[in-house]
Amino acid sequence: MEKIVSNRQVPAMNVLIVFAHPDRRSLNASLRDVAVEELEALGHAVEVSDLYAMAWKSAVDGADFPAIDPKARLKVAAASGDAFAADALTDDVKAEQAKLLRADVLILQFPLWWFTMPAILKGWVDRVYAYGFAYGVGEHNDQRWGDRYGEGTLAGKRAMLIVTTGGWREHYSPSGINGPIDDLLFPINHGILHYSGYTVLPPFVTYRVDRLDDAGFAQAAAALRERMRTLESTQPIPFRRQNGGDYLIPSLELRPGLEATGVSGFSLHLKQVE
Ligand code: FAD
Repeated sequence: MEKIVSNRQVPAMNVLIVFAHPDRRSLNASLRDVAVEELEALGHAVEVSDLYAMAWKSAVDGADFPAIDPKARLKVAAASGDAFAADALTDDVKAEQAKLLRADVLILQFPLWWFTMPAILKGWVDRVYAYGFAYGVGEHNDQRWGDRYGEGTLAGKRAMLIVTTGGWREHYSPSGINGPIDDLLFPINHGILHYSGYTVLPPFVTYRVDRLDDAGFAQAAAALRERMRTLESTQPIPFRRQNGGDYLIPSLELRPGLEATGVSGFSLHLKQVE
């Protein structure tokens, strides 16, 4: 289905925003509303999982696996895999998985807390990303090491982060004291989103927000609208695929010779783009 918007044909998509802020009057909530408004104006269907409003249970525990004897030792990955295979995960987790399967685009939105996502969102990942759904998918042999890092249940879909920080842009620059923002977000972009199959877009980060004035908000909102308008055309972060020949199997080390001169650390896992 396509909708003509401003003489431009935009394919209608399903977008899921998983939102983690406790206050609906917050800056994050205002930015979320801007994103939703823009996406809907483009003809996309938007679902929002507002984790605090949903009173989302973030800790994984025995209550997640009612079929397991509460006195038995809880082996979480095994319990998760068994429950997924038996369609016995709890209803709240199943509902989030259904939203992920429906969505062409996933957006995780949060304020940066202690250099990562708030605990409630991490708990959403821990519970919704079940074994057999987001990990433990596919065959392991001497040619491929499961369906992950660009392959898997959520492959073919796009994902991105919307993040606000108290720290300045410079504090997150390559030489900034906080460490480069792309390094700090690597475990989420690569370890959670790309791992489960997503094509990951560069994050939308608004820096130094704690005393943001109206002009600053207007600027951030305009930039966010532009990112929402270009969801389907933005160049993704060029993460390497695990099974594409770049890695040795089973050590999963980058094949010697593929690293560009002077590149180390997380950047090794980016394909050099001409
Ligand atoms: P809010 O506090 O809701 O708003 C911020 C400002 O935006 C306010 O002054 C508000 O008036 C203004 N504003 C302007 N226009 C609007 C509008 N239309 N709607 C709403 N507000 C508007 N920062 C880091 O850089 N690194 C960290 O590791 C880090 N760790 C943290 C850990 C914790 C536990 C906490 C509480 C904060 C931490 N911070 C950190 C700071 C945090 O990232 C920021 O406080 C957060 O990003 C601000 O987002 P918010 O939605 O809560 O903003």
